Amino acid sequence: MKRVLNFIGGEFRPPCSGRYLPDVNPATGQVFAEIPDSGPEDVDAGVTAASRAFETWCRTPAEERSRLLIRVADLIEENFDELATLESEDNGKPISLARRMDVPRAILNFRFFATAILHAETAAHVTDDRALNYTLRHPLGVAGLISPWNLPLYLLTWKIAPAIAAGNCCVAKPSELTPLTADRLAALIHEAGIPPGVVNIVHGSGPGAGRALTSHPNVPLISFTGGTKTGADVMTHAGPLFKKVSLELGGKNPNIVFADADLEQAVPTSIQSSFSNQGEICLCGSRLFVEKSIYDEFLERFLESTKSLRIGDPQDPSTDVGALVSEAHRRKVEGYVALAKEEGGQVLTGGRRPGALPERVRDGYFLEPTVIAGLDCRKRVMQEEIFGPVVTVTPFDSPEEAIAYANGTRYGLSASVWTRDLQKAHRVAAAIQSGTVWVNTWLLRDLRVPFGGMKESGVGREGGFESLHFFTEAKNVCVKL
Ligand code: NDP
Repeated sequence: MKRVLNFIGGEFRPPCSGRYLPDVNPATGQVFAEIPDSGPEDVDAGVTAASRAFETWCRTPAEERSRLLIRVADLIEENFDELATLESEDNGKPISLARRMDVPRAILNFRFFATAILHAETAAHVTDDRALNYTLRHPLGVAGLISPWNLPLYLLTWKIAPAIAAGNCCVAKPSELTPLTADRLAALIHEAGIPPGVVNIVHGSGPGAGRALTSHPNVPLISFTGGTKTGADVMTHAGPLFKKVSLELGGKNPNIVFADADLEQAVPTSIQSSFSNQGEICLCGSRLFVEKSIYDEFLERFLESTKSLRIGDPQDPSTDVGALVSEAHRRKVEGYVALAKEEGGQVLTGGRRPGALPERVRDGYFLEPTVIAGLDCRKRVMQEEIFGPVVTVTPFDSPEEAIAYANGTRYGLSASVWTRDLQKAHRVAAAIQSGTVWVNTWLLRDLRVPFGGMKESGVGREGGFESLHFFTEAKNVCVKL
């Protein structure tokens, strides 16, 4: 069985405790690796290595940092198949999705920030004929990076690339449920020639390794992606130390289909936005609102497409829906299906564990894509993040009603709007309280745009220069003329 080690100061090291946690393949239910159960001593070793490396890395010319980051991107590309397979095995996601989304995006994250630092500008403010102000941007030191299990390599590289491109060093803690691509990335970073200590990866549990990072006095910056409840814990520990914090949290995203939408596009894309990655994407549209006059037609087409999704072995290239990440998570999602029935909803399709699965994955954590109708928008199933292959459908009468439904949760991460009426699209997009609104599409991501959530979906923005600003501290220099 594979034993993963921490990556500290350019070396693979066992955890100080000598203890390991099991890593389960969610499609088979089998333990197939073990990872360090790290604690404060391991995190401290990572922070010490990063602090040491920072002295040189922060002075390394941007062109050289850029060259090294591009080398990492090239190595991810050279190891594309291995990384896609590891991601699929560790998370349960279809290999086709890992190939289409996770690994390409990891490559892009490094290329994007490697080149962004070569084009960064700085501001100057002239105060009449009295003074010239200019802005300097300095890296902060050691960045603490905490990422979740749903898009492990995609989100880890979304943090590591801008952090080190900007001149910081980092200690990253991937989710204990999906450590394998992070481990492989560590080796590729080393092979690329990134100096020892610039990137450190400490594996372990949230309360063990994660909290040691958020409360470490020599980590001035935390970039966290995960659940809203965990985000509050991160704030609680980082707040008293005045760390710079970025939180990318949960969502309960509305997907609004108006009667004039092009259903040829709205139906298949809504299938994607509901069930991609088993619904385990923070940006999934888990609340579908459909204008009453097309509700029946839309629902018929949507249900037919849902039933045609192929659930099965994630390693099979024809699989559309893989396994949920863990047995505990499947039970949580099933709990919401049961709650939906108690709350008066009707399960129109799905809600069960699939019957006929290939022998290899018979014990995996699969759940059928599930569509639920008839729920009042104030019910818990319509308010709480489920993070599984479960979508609710609700009819609406007017744009105002759709907007009220969309905004009627404590989340505000993303939304989709489907209409051919441009004015209506702009009006509705402006009124929706979320960090991203897609019109007639979903998950179309340009890495230059600001990304983040409103309300309980997050604090701060990352993406493009927002990321580079987050990972640097602005200093104004005022020169009297
Ligand atoms: P969690 O909040 O459970 O975990 C996220 C990360 O934080 C993991 O590495 C976890 O470690 C770690 N962690 C857990 N507890 C603590 C703690 N007390 N202090 C510091 N770190 C801790 O989220 P999930 O992994 O379950 O991911 C799913 C959630 O992430 C969903 O809510 C989803 O919406 C959100 N998400 C948000 C995105 C966005 O961009 N807004 C993108 C993707 C996901 P471990 O796993 O080892 O416990």
